[in-house]
Amino acid sequence: MRKPKITVIGSINMDLVTIATRMPMQGETVLGETFRLIPGGKGANQAVAAARLGADVHLIGAVGTDSFGTLLLQHLEKEEIVVDGVKPVTDVETGVATIVISEGDNRIIVVPGANYTLCPDDLERWEEKMATSDICLLQLEIPLPVVERAVAIAKRHGVRVILNPAPAQPLPDTLLDQVDFLTPNEHERDIVLAGRSIKKWTQKFIVTEGKRGVSFQRHGEWVLIPGFHVPVVDTTGAGDTFNGAFAVALSKGMALEEACRYANAAAALSVTKLGAQTGMPTEKELESFLA
Ligand code: ADP
Repeated sequence: MRKPKITVIGSINMDLVTIATRMPMQGETVLGETFRLIPGGKGANQAVAAARLGADVHLIGAVGTDSFGTLLLQHLEKEEIVVDGVKPVTDVETGVATIVISEGDNRIIVVPGANYTLCPDDLERWEEKMATSDICLLQLEIPLPVVERAVAIAKRHGVRVILNPAPAQPLPDTLLDQVDFLTPNEHERDIVLAGRSIKKWTQKFIVTEGKRGVSFQRHGEWVLIPGFHVPVVDTTGAGDTFNGAFAVALSKGMALEEACRYANAAAALSVTKLGAQTGMPTEKELESFLA
């Protein structure tokens, strides 16, 4: 069977994760327990989720020509993601998220860096590749004009678009009109709509609801596709796994309900391990979980 072809346009970050027994107070220094560099960014995470599930993934984004950029590109290539669409940027650093975790609390600062140097014209040379994709998958950690141009290019060629509106911001009507699927969690749904009625776009909303699963509208009624019960270790990246898997499922021709079940299962497996990408299942692992 032909492999699903997915273009992901989005962010690539290095997460700098420090775990400490307690948070420092203002002006204080404390000793931490462990430090880890973990590849992240919603674009990269969703690209990895789709690639593990057997898709040919083309990633469009930007990293700095610094050591984090080099490490991230090597990591993505190991995941068999095609990275010729990742622009090397010389004067801006690779995006980083500084994450401090201490019992029951985490504090995060994201510096988008190179991710925000991506511009709409960067997409033009990849138009042909986008045109032959089954799905274009986007999030909101890159400038909105890039998202808008990507959607316009995809729709010009009749390619289906999934927009995961995270981190959430109010979106223009034109964008909501053009995308095929929006995959917010419940909180993001309300921000994206910013007081507008969901009515005009209800058919497009696939709302993730954590362990409950995911819901969408069918014949005017909300239908819940239940999540899977699993031992939870870390829910970071559950949404990213859901989106990557949902893109793969639609590319394989699954109907909406089946695609949601497939993506719920992939996301459930991902929360059983620590880290956003660590627990993302391979195609084989997902098939045996679903068997
Ligand atoms: P986000 O991570 O973007 O906040 P959600 O929390 O809604 O998104 O999770 C996305 C999907 O991940 C859910 O629709 C569900 O399929 C799966 N998921 C999340 N948390 C759990 C959990 N505790 N158990 C099983 N599946 C989960």
